[in-house]
Amino acid sequence: MTLMKTRFLAGHPALDFLNTRRRVDGELVDLLGRDEDVLRWLGQAGLPVLEIDRETAPSSLVDAARTLRETIRSLVERRKAGQRGDPSVLNAFLAEAQSHPRMVWNKQRSPTIDRVRRSETPVGILAPVAEAAADLLVTGDFKLVKRCEDEICELWFFDQTKSHHRRWCSTALCGNRHKVAAYRKRRRAENQ
Ligand SMILES: [Zn+2]
Repeated sequence: MTLMKTRFLAGHPALDFLNTRRRVDGELVDLLGRDEDVLRWLGQAGLPVLEIDRETAPSSLVDAARTLRETIRSLVERRKAGQRGDPSVLNAFLAEAQSHPRMVWNKQRSPTIDRVRRSETPVGILAPVAEAAADLLVTGDFKLVKRCEDEICELWFFDQTKSHHRRWCSTALCGNRHKVAAYRKRRRAENQ
């Protein structure tokens, strides 16, 4: 399974964003290495992608993205543990979420509302991710917000299965590895 296919396995954009930092063959890998990686990720996640205004935004987008990601990670971990977190950094991103609704009426389709975003600073560009995270933290069912049960895998996901018994980031990755390990253990026990 390629890295690309596993980028959006979480079932929620805020958790997929956390998963841009992950372990690949035991090594911690950051999929957000440059500003362009952040813009590409936003596009692939179906979130609005604005151009960066380099003159008004001297700080880099990737630094802002990593700051936002790690504050979301700490808030999600705290919420999952039933503790209170400090939302001040997340709120700073939300404060830049300048947008207004716009009605769009295509000829063939019924009218819809989309959002026009105005802020072109790194913080403003990341505001849709901050909004998704705030929404998850406030309205999400945290019984279904889970971390992969593999000891070293750090991937988060929103369990949308009917039975709510999803245990692994992906059955093809950690799920399969554990199935093989359990099989070997069983075989060893049988052979003793
Ligand atoms: Zn996993």
